[in-house]
Amino acid sequence: MKVLVLNCGSSSAKFQLFETNLEAIKGGTETCLAKGIVEKIGEETSSRKIECLGKPAFREVIPIPSHTEAIRLILEMLTHAEYGIIKDKNEIDAVGHRVVHGGETFTHSCLIDERVLAKIKECIQLAPLHNPHNVRGYEIAKSLLSKTPHVAVFDTAFHQTMPARSFNYALPYEYYDKKSIRRYGFHGTSHRYVARRVGRLFNLPKEAYNVITVHLGNGASIAAVQKGKVMDTSMGFTPLEGLVMGTRCGDIDPAILMYLIESDGADVVSLNRILNKQSGLIGISGISNDMRELEKASKEGNKRAALAIDIFCYRIRKYIGAYTVAMEGVDYVAFTAGIGENSVLIREKCSEGLEAFGAVIDKEKNRMMNGKEGVFSTDASKVKLCVIPTNEEILIAHDTVEAVSGLL
Ligand code: ADP
Repeated sequence: MKVLVLNCGSSSAKFQLFETNLEAIKGGTETCLAKGIVEKIGEETSSRKIECLGKPAFREVIPIPSHTEAIRLILEMLTHAEYGIIKDKNEIDAVGHRVVHGGETFTHSCLIDERVLAKIKECIQLAPLHNPHNVRGYEIAKSLLSKTPHVAVFDTAFHQTMPARSFNYALPYEYYDKKSIRRYGFHGTSHRYVARRVGRLFNLPKEAYNVITVHLGNGASIAAVQKGKVMDTSMGFTPLEGLVMGTRCGDIDPAILMYLIESDGADVVSLNRILNKQSGLIGISGISNDMRELEKASKEGNKRAALAIDIFCYRIRKYIGAYTVAMEGVDYVAFTAGIGENSVLIREKCSEGLEAFGAVIDKEKNRMMNGKEGVFSTDASKVKLCVIPTNEEILIAHDTVEAVSGLL
């Protein structure tokens, strides 16, 4: 069946079209037919782009005033006679939507009906910057593909197996009870994909291994997955907590906020900007949030770039140590996303000191990974270090197939 995967953000809509079915999922033989993005929606320089299997790529800068127009254009590109891949939009059998926040309600993906939509809307208060666009994307796609089943796949769902000791904060309990303030965790689709892929790669059922999944993109998070279930993860009530990220601070002492309010007259708007946009790699280095630029600057002797890299990797190692204990042992540590898949230096620095847990890096293998799936620990290493390129879209497609087949 043909599954359209939609990821609708504030100013962009990314999409992929897959040819897949239950058999293909098991055998890993699904095909990506098309991939593209509509960007800068509402700006003068908005653009649309598509690349279909065996067809010339198409890119155009045109005014795209609204998300409604963006999704209409996605269907137009997919059905275009020259660069498209299907003849009619009704060839799309199902649509899978990325939804950022599913709160405590959604523990797995599900078909969207009126009741589910109402519950997703209830989660808007927990993710006011993301869920409204995901909902909007669904509503527009539903109006254009009204007979097609639509499925929601949540970033938070995979983490819902965390025990109370992991997801509760040590705040007055009413804050959890009455205001739903707790750790939710994000990047769940990526962590789930990587954890599952480890099992496929090493031919193990999910109950047979513990894995720490390390997602290092512009946003970064880490998860402890014990026998297929998340035991802990580093992002919390929002994606701000945990690891050092491109522009986000990750863990800090919350008293710093009170100090800034009192000493500088900081308010919600400025604190939000400082912690989410001006901290992390860019804040420490003063140069960039792009790891490639920091690696280059550090090699050229820039001390703050080197410090940013040091803090970034040290934080990851601390979490790997903590999660090894949380799971009473680990079998695999799997690196993914832009930095995790591509940076030899970061993987090497994150592996320092892990010998204590039985993970021994093979530096030569690490140098040869080139963003490909595989192991970069020594043959004798008890804990395997690996790279697993993430593919959230394909997991959304799989969940969509399973949900419309009544398997979820
Ligand atoms: P996003 O969270 O935006 O999806 P990505 O997963 O694309 O992020 O990761 C972006 C990060 O990956 C950037 O910091 C970029 O510098 C880094 N990156 C990509 N390729 C490399 C590389 N070869 N070496 C080091 N860092 C890389």
